[in-house]
Amino acid sequence: MAKINPNYQKLRTEYIFPVIEQKLADLKKRLPKASIVNLGIGDIAQPLAPAITTAICSAVQEMGEESSLRGYGPSEGYDFLRLAIAKNEFAHLGISPDEIFISDGANSDTANIQELFGMSNAIGITDPTYPVYLDTSVMAGRGSKILFLPCTEKTGFLPVPPKEHCDLVYLCSPSNPTGVAFTRKELAAWVAYAKKEGAILLYDNAYVAFITSPDVPHSIFEIEGAKAVAIEFRSFSKSAGFTGLRCAYTILPKTVHAHLGRKMISLHTLWKRRQNTKSNGVAYPIQRGAEAVFTKQGQKETKAQVKSYLTQAALLRKGLISLGYKCFGGVDSPYIWWKAPKGLSSWEFFDLLLEKCHLISVPGKGFGPSGEGYVRLSCFTSPAIAKEALKRIGKL
Ligand code: PLP
Repeated sequence: MAKINPNYQKLRTEYIFPVIEQKLADLKKRLPKASIVNLGIGDIAQPLAPAITTAICSAVQEMGEESSLRGYGPSEGYDFLRLAIAKNEFAHLGISPDEIFISDGANSDTANIQELFGMSNAIGITDPTYPVYLDTSVMAGRGSKILFLPCTEKTGFLPVPPKEHCDLVYLCSPSNPTGVAFTRKELAAWVAYAKKEGAILLYDNAYVAFITSPDVPHSIFEIEGAKAVAIEFRSFSKSAGFTGLRCAYTILPKTVHAHLGRKMISLHTLWKRRQNTKSNGVAYPIQRGAEAVFTKQGQKETKAQVKSYLTQAALLRKGLISLGYKCFGGVDSPYIWWKAPKGLSSWEFFDLLLEKCHLISVPGKGFGPSGEGYVRLSCFTSPAIAKEALKRIGKL
């Protein structure tokens, strides 16, 4: 008889989003006319930029012509997109196009990268965390090798290098869910830790486009020595509205190595091998759409979208503070980490906001035990909805 992977039984049973959906469905049943303000799930709230849709449509047209037939593309991504990324994002950091691997999402890349590493590796994962790092580690049978790195008010809601040894560490900055980002000094401390411990940093930089603070680095490779110890993940999802299109990339410098006995093996070579075997690449029109993000018009349009989300973040943040609440993030990120008042738990505060304001948030505890006492607000919304949310919160 076929047997399941028993590690799936070890996953936390409560995945927050279905619970939130259920609570929302209950409310709608009781109050069918309630107008809901959804600041929960972090999905985009604006249509695709015209520069992107135009590029995608013309790529599809092109594929309909006999003279420009396109079948399977390269599994690492088309050269035109790898070149555009290297030129526009990494020219000053000396990353070459062949160190950039195109994929269908940072979600799958941050999960799949684990395949390159043996099962004995100790993994550092933040608490609270973006759930993918934890769940995929558990699915892979690494549950007993996880060291949780608390992100609390005391640590500035970001992890600090621990005394304990880790071989791999997932870092997310700007952070989902806490909405704060590493300064250069804080990130340099992690690079120093990785060098000392012989660890590899798995750096999820999906929200780089939202960075506004001058002391927050835009890439881990800005930190000296990082090219020997770090892999960076980026995505077009939030920077250019690609959540429904799917396109992301991983930067894996050729200088990153890990041990096989006494031998040092290039992770770049292994990842290339993995992608060649397991992926047939991202659709050609989608990659043309991603390339269009780097055109003058594409930059103008996508930057305006990000700016507008950040405007909502600033509005909500200032509004909450002026109402006497404590909140963090929302400056270099589209997320606000809001402290529940009067010692309420995350779920109690979530329920209060849902019942009294018809507002959806995400309970911090869903991202890990240290998220208890907080909720996350997503600022992927319109100015009108952000204002409406504040109006309702003001009446609490
Ligand atoms: N990484 C982080 C930290 C995210 O918050 C998200 C999406 O919410 C992703 C990765 C997913 O990116 P993608 O849409 O490229 O899979």
